[in-house]
Amino acid sequence: MSFDKSHDAYKEAVDLMPGGVNSPVRAFKSVGMSPVFMESGKGSKIVDIDKNEYIDYVLSWGPLILGHADDRVVTSLKDTVEKGTSFGAPTIIENKLTQLVIDRVPSIEMVRMVNSGTEATMSAIRVARGYTGRDKVLKFEGNYHGHGDSLLIKAGSGVATLGLPDSPGVPESIAQNTITVPYNDIESVRYAFEQFGDQLAAVIVEPVSGNMGVVPPQEDFLQELRKVTEENSSLLIFDEVMTGFRVGYNCAQGFFGVTPDLTCLGKVIGGGLPVGAYGGKREIMERVAPTGSIYQAGTLSGNPLAMTAGYETLRAMDESSYEQISEKIDKLVEGYKQAAIDFDIPLHINRAGSMVGFFFTNQPVINFETAQTSNLDYFAQYYRSMIDEGIFLPPSQFEGLFLSTAHTDEDIEKTIAAVRKAFEAIEK
Ligand code: PMP
Repeated sequence: MSFDKSHDAYKEAVDLMPGGVNSPVRAFKSVGMSPVFMESGKGSKIVDIDKNEYIDYVLSWGPLILGHADDRVVTSLKDTVEKGTSFGAPTIIENKLTQLVIDRVPSIEMVRMVNSGTEATMSAIRVARGYTGRDKVLKFEGNYHGHGDSLLIKAGSGVATLGLPDSPGVPESIAQNTITVPYNDIESVRYAFEQFGDQLAAVIVEPVSGNMGVVPPQEDFLQELRKVTEENSSLLIFDEVMTGFRVGYNCAQGFFGVTPDLTCLGKVIGGGLPVGAYGGKREIMERVAPTGSIYQAGTLSGNPLAMTAGYETLRAMDESSYEQISEKIDKLVEGYKQAAIDFDIPLHINRAGSMVGFFFTNQPVINFETAQTSNLDYFAQYYRSMIDEGIFLPPSQFEGLFLSTAHTDEDIEKTIAAVRKAFEAIEK
């Protein structure tokens, strides 16, 4: 496989943008490669600028649950773009997508659309602080909630991939208001509440963590979080930017039957265009301007193109779509398991609904510490073999795989064949 054009494009880009990229996870640093530049995508496949074709398990890091350039989404986007791209005034499509979100997400009674997951979590934290009159927030090590100051502390995703647990530029005075404890450790949460209970505005959690690899909540973890936040009059915020409309039809909260006060959404809700959202109980959301005094705004929020892509995407997904994706994941998991046995590779598989992640370790992975037992050298070798076989995976051990309704049985078979080849070739 030749990457000549990507290499040339990267040489140009690296003088123009930090690391040649507009988001650090695209740098391929941890797998010892330079970025691959993409040209087009259709269904489960993407093509790079050297015309190499891949089965795509990145799907723009989650949003494209229908696959690339789905006809329903493209047709509606074309209709919408002809009518103008933005008005700075309300449009009907905002009502339509919002109603759909309210219908599908159990805890949400009102929504505010924003432009990214980062904006959604930053805004939800402000609302929680404004609503409770408290300043501190509790988050979990290895959970990633975007790059807002309050939440960029012991974070997962690219921060974990690049080994940068605490970012310069976040003032100490802000960091002091963020308490971090290990994921899946309810005793530490209780201890934090004993220390800071009446100062904690909220607990924010990825209900299935997807940013230290995929790490599901252990039994009763989310239920206990609900209990302890209620006992202390703190808000429970589910960051469903990754899990929302991916884990299942009713998001993670429907899947696990736990009702948060506020929910953050992103990725799938925008169907591949820039959308985020936060929502929750009416009583809380009405505190947001202009009905309330907690300020949050956006020139392009609720943008018609973005709303259209989100609406068409969510509309196309029914409960059976999630079952289909889940069945594909079952097959993939079987293939990985067998390959690990046959080639004596340590492998731990985590799964929640339509989310799945693989770790090169024999230990159960339940939090950030155990996620780090994964053999990163094995991951890098496996990654490079897979890309050579035309399988495009997230270039980090600390991310899960994303599948779409467009992935076929043939894609899964090809992927398993590539996994077997990659595992066989791993130098121990
Ligand atoms: N929260 C979670 C759980 C995420 O996975 C991400 C992005 N991976 C974000 C927030 C931030 O979203 P964005 O990149 O759209 O700002």
